[in-house]
Amino acid sequence: MWRLIFLGVIIYLLIVAFKRSKVGTKNDDKNVKKDATAKEQEIENMVQCASCAVHLPRSEAFLVNGDFYCSKAHLPK
Ligand SMILES: [Zn+2]
Repeated sequence: MWRLIFLGVIIYLLIVAFKRSKVGTKNDDKNVKKDATAKEQEIENMVQCASCAVHLPRSEAFLVNGDFYCSKAHLPK
């Protein structure tokens, strides 16, 4: 009888440990994916000025005729 209870406790502990490790791995994957996506977006959003070749965020760049420029002073005349 005690053997059965002992076996049940061990199985229960194994299931709990398995669930915990599974959840932990899932969360880690999520975090890694999130970081990777953020990094990719950061890289995607960086553009190069066609005049002075400086890199700047896409949102701060001026787009003229398909080329990016870092400031109005570098826009083609
Ligand atoms: Zn520039």
